[in-house]
Amino acid sequence: LAKNIIEAMKFIEANDVKFIRLQFCDLFGQNRNIAITAMQMERALASGIPFDASLVVGFSESRYTDLVLYPDISTIQLLPWRPQQGKVARILCDIKYPNGDIFEADSRYILKETINRAKALGYEFNTSAECEFYLFKQDENGDPTTIPTDQAGYFDLAPYDRGENTRREICLTLEDMGFEIESSRHEAGRGQHEIDFKYDDALSAADKIMTFKTVVKTVAQRNGVHASFLPKPLMEEPGSGMHIHVSLLKDGQDIFENKDGILGEEARQFMAGVLAHVKGMTAIANPLVNSYKRLTGGKEAPRHIGWGFGNRSPLIRIPMESDEYYRFELRGPDPTCNPYLTFAIILAAGLEGIEKKLVLMDELKLDEDEITRDPMAVKNIQELPITLMDALTEMDADPLIKTVLGESLAEKYIELKTAEWMDYIKTVHPWEIDRYLLTY
Ligand code: GLU
Ligand code: MG
Ligand code: MG
Repeated sequence: LAKNIIEAMKFIEANDVKFIRLQFCDLFGQNRNIAITAMQMERALASGIPFDASLVVGFSESRYTDLVLYPDISTIQLLPWRPQQGKVARILCDIKYPNGDIFEADSRYILKETINRAKALGYEFNTSAECEFYLFKQDENGDPTTIPTDQAGYFDLAPYDRGENTRREICLTLEDMGFEIESSRHEAGRGQHEIDFKYDDALSAADKIMTFKTVVKTVAQRNGVHASFLPKPLMEEPGSGMHIHVSLLKDGQDIFENKDGILGEEARQFMAGVLAHVKGMTAIANPLVNSYKRLTGGKEAPRHIGWGFGNRSPLIRIPMESDEYYRFELRGPDPTCNPYLTFAIILAAGLEGIEKKLVLMDELKLDEDEITRDPMAVKNIQELPITLMDALTEMDADPLIKTVLGESLAEKYIELKTAEWMDYIKTVHPWEIDRYLLTY
């Protein structure tokens, strides 16, 4: 990793890099980039590269339409799929106003700030994410269809698993980019896959999720298939989640270390904080109209608010195995979320739990299947919001989320997402015609 301008310039020269993509993440978690030639890099490192922010989602409210990208030197990386002569590198950027002030709506900055706040209290925050996705066939024009590339299921092997080669190439490309791949497999849905990589500090982990999505989509395209992170592309198949594993160290000591199912006080308080804000954070962690088709559609997606040990399906699961690090797993989020904002909110919510010494609810001993069979068993248990609009209402009522995002960014988010919801709700869907046309 390059640590200063000289090292970054050496890296560029040694690798014969010709283009550098200055990358940042918009409010809704999409990668954006501007390419510069290697000759411009020294200038970019010294004084930043201005860009017109007025068309970037979530940035248009800024005080100026011109913002400036400052490369974060430590993130420079080659894009292995680009030409090997005249290589292309990417570098993640911090965003500032022309007068040098930090651009406060930059989600990467928001996560950094939250991490720093935790650090000041002695906490170190590590995360990892299990990203699930589908591989779909393309039509003759190269446009995506919703026809899965195979009929295989959980842990299946070739020849049923036709994604094997694409998945292999994805893993190798990710390794070229510094990922440590822990496992990769066919998931339960037809054409559904999962690739897991090693945990990291939360900022690096969020950076990696952004890179991961680009790599998966790019490599799939090169293999003539379409990779989709849509939470519920096929009604009859499982959705694609992005389970987030959370670990917290206090002065180097693992908070979630547990013996025989007994959790320490701070672990319980942290989880209580996350659960207290889990409705408010849903619009961030599950940002699409489609996200709620996954959350309400069963097939191992969590719906009820609760936690449990072992291998069941509650919203928060504490793995029983005690491996390299202790953690809990939040199963609600999906891969379309902005990982920076999602991590920041989880951390802030957990810290609030510790600060206010919140009391953790009793363990939920039922899994989602048992709940479906006997709904009365959970009549006192709360649910996650079931539509994007419900989630936005919950977000609006949650002061913590507004503190983390900043009032104006939170308002912008709610405004843009409400418009998306209205667009959806006024559309006449095939379901309505099927259900009503004959009768009414
Ligand atoms: N695909 C499931 C979901 O929507 C999760 C399956 C699993 O546990 O890996 O969250
Ligand atoms: Mg999975
Ligand atoms: Mg999981």
